[in-house]
Amino acid sequence: MKLCRFGPVDQEKPGVLLPSGDIQDVSAFGEDYTESFFSTHGIERLRTWIQTAGSSCPIVPSDVRLGPCIARPSKIVCIGLNYAKHAAESGMAVPTEPVMFFKATTALCGPNDPVLIPRNSQKTDWEVELAVVIGKKATYVSLEDAPNYIAGYTLHNDYSEREFQLERGGQWVKGKSHDSFAPLGPFLATTDEIADPQALSMWLEVNGERLQDSDTSDMVFPVMELISYCSQFMTLLPGDIISTGTPFGVGLGFVPPRYLKPGDVVTLGIEGLGQQRQVAVAYDDRT
Ligand code: ZN
Repeated sequence: MKLCRFGPVDQEKPGVLLPSGDIQDVSAFGEDYTESFFSTHGIERLRTWIQTAGSSCPIVPSDVRLGPCIARPSKIVCIGLNYAKHAAESGMAVPTEPVMFFKATTALCGPNDPVLIPRNSQKTDWEVELAVVIGKKATYVSLEDAPNYIAGYTLHNDYSEREFQLERGGQWVKGKSHDSFAPLGPFLATTDEIADPQALSMWLEVNGERLQDSDTSDMVFPVMELISYCSQFMTLLPGDIISTGTPFGVGLGFVPPRYLKPGDVVTLGIEGLGQQRQVAVAYDDRT
């Protein structure tokens, strides 16, 4: 099943993306895709409900805005430097343990919303990433048990302001958390849709030029290890996101570096998880 959310900002309704490409409005099910939905076997309940009630659910107009594919979670955990060539282009060593950082949950936005270039930003950068959505409360999860804690997978662009991240002192969170810096979707693919999360091609283009072009098989620490690892340090709640790192080809890695300016168009995709498109807009010119 492919879960999505549609409608105006902060008024999104739950939908299901059908094989035809249409979105079916499942708000009559009565639940958004929240922590409570995931923690009470919402995916299975929704699947069952659709079998009887689905035919009466309306199809949404095709030009509808998509929101983030899940409601705001308790945490967005990100993994840094999880592709060897990306660590090299960042001038950093390949880590011996996963690098973890947080991204503010207020950064979440729809997959095709504009990316807002922060005030005083010169170094707004892109990062195509596979994001995992947690399906049940996870504390001290073993590697073997990790697959049972996944609700599904989705596409994430881990936007990053490199000066705020790396040159302003302290943690990376400053460069990762601006509004619009976490477009998520277009949909959450449940685990049955993704046979192998370590065999997905991924790409990103700026103004039509392909700059990231890789595969999740290149991860240093694979998805199941990351779930187990993160859960040794904190409890992951249903709906929480682990974004698993970006491959080679970010703006920081070019000589000279390349960063976004207003009007630039960023497109990205992961095999089986759809595509996103963001137009860069200065924060003070947002509508
Ligand atoms: Zn990242």
